[in-house]
Amino acid sequence: MAAKKWAVKTPLVEIDGDEMTRVMWQMVKDKLLFPYLDIKLEYYDLSLKHRDETDDQITVDAAEAIKKYGVAVKCATITPNKERVKEYGLKQEWKSPNGTIRAILDGTVFRAPILVNNIKPSVRTWKKPIHIGRHAYGDVYRNQEIRVPGSGRGELVYTPQGGAPIRLTIKDFEGAGVLQGIHNTDQSISSFARACFTYAYDQKIDLWFGTKDTISKTYDAQFRKIFDQEYQTNWQRKFVDAGLDFNFTLIDDTVARIMRSEGGMLWACKNYDGDVMSDMLGAAYGSLAMMTSVLVCPQGYFEYEAAHGTVQRHYQKHMQGEKTSTNSMALIFAWTGALKKRGELDQTPEIVDFARKLEQTAKQTIESGIMTGDLLKVAEAAPSNKQVYTEEFIDAIAENLPG
Ligand code: NAP
Ligand code: MG
Repeated sequence: MAAKKWAVKTPLVEIDGDEMTRVMWQMVKDKLLFPYLDIKLEYYDLSLKHRDETDDQITVDAAEAIKKYGVAVKCATITPNKERVKEYGLKQEWKSPNGTIRAILDGTVFRAPILVNNIKPSVRTWKKPIHIGRHAYGDVYRNQEIRVPGSGRGELVYTPQGGAPIRLTIKDFEGAGVLQGIHNTDQSISSFARACFTYAYDQKIDLWFGTKDTISKTYDAQFRKIFDQEYQTNWQRKFVDAGLDFNFTLIDDTVARIMRSEGGMLWACKNYDGDVMSDMLGAAYGSLAMMTSVLVCPQGYFEYEAAHGTVQRHYQKHMQGEKTSTNSMALIFAWTGALKKRGELDQTPEIVDFARKLEQTAKQTIESGIMTGDLLKVAEAAPSNKQVYTEEFIDAIAENLPG
């Protein structure tokens, strides 16, 4: 038990969630935070049941609270599908809360792995976390497609308001094939660029960006143009003063350079690249439960969460009275991320220190060999390695935490 409690000046927006992560969420608060912190929480219960009861108004309220207070921490939540509608007797198949919040805040999601010295990334040279920022709008995710049954002309047509259409032939088909149209908007690309520069500057890391602008001379080139403009207008001086670098290369080169790097940069990715590459990075660093995630908004709001879901399979075991070995690291780091940001904005370095200490202690606990099942599978073998249950892991961190 801590001798003295540190006061968090401004209320923190707390967004509760579902299943196994909700169970761990409470343990983390009770054992690792409340004994040490005097903290006011603006609480929003986004459990599926409560979202249903409030016709999802609670999700909108939570997003508005993030705008008001600036910093939030979010537990994983169920995105309902047909089975969940039945399981919970829902009024309707509510939309993804993350999607709703992201749309209201116009934010970008950044992910970064938590590194410990007894879990080696698959890529030998990676010593520091590679952060990834994925543009989450448009391209192939908002496409229109046609299965071309046989010969005919495929065209790209744009009709300006009140103007004459611009028409390009994509292909004169001689037989069957496929056709696809995709788009993006300057506004969305600009928001993404701003969020990337904000994040990289905040974390004091270089920003790398790559597209295929040699082939896609208009579409991908527009991404490059907007990033360059944003850099020159708003960031160049700040970056240079902080000793940071922004570089743009062809996406092929970016990938090759990432593989040879020692990490420690923000890798900004177009939508599809980010989808694929974030899974590659997650796997290469060991476990989804060691991946943190933060939503950064151009207006300077931050929402911290874990990259994984509600761990449904473990929750089912838990509900049957079985013990689980579920990893709470990403949830703990969601809290410490939010506390560090809160402390920085409030100018309360003691809160930043506490959060850092908690992160260090959690990592050292794993490095001492005490870990959950997911990590034991990927950790370097050692005689001190021991698999512990969900609550035991959190207890071990609490025991190691200096008072
Ligand atoms: P998940 O919860 O991420 O879990 C997938 C699997 O990954 C688990 O079954 C488990 O593998 C492993 N895993 C993930 N987190 C772990 C942890 N902390 N400790 C140990 N193992 C962990 O994904 P899901 O099962 O596909 O989705 C479950 C629910 O989460 C869905 O309803 C989905 O809508 C929701 N979801 C929410 C968010 C969010 O709120 N940000 C994100 C993604 C998904 P083993 O079973 O092999 O042990
Ligand atoms: Mg993916």
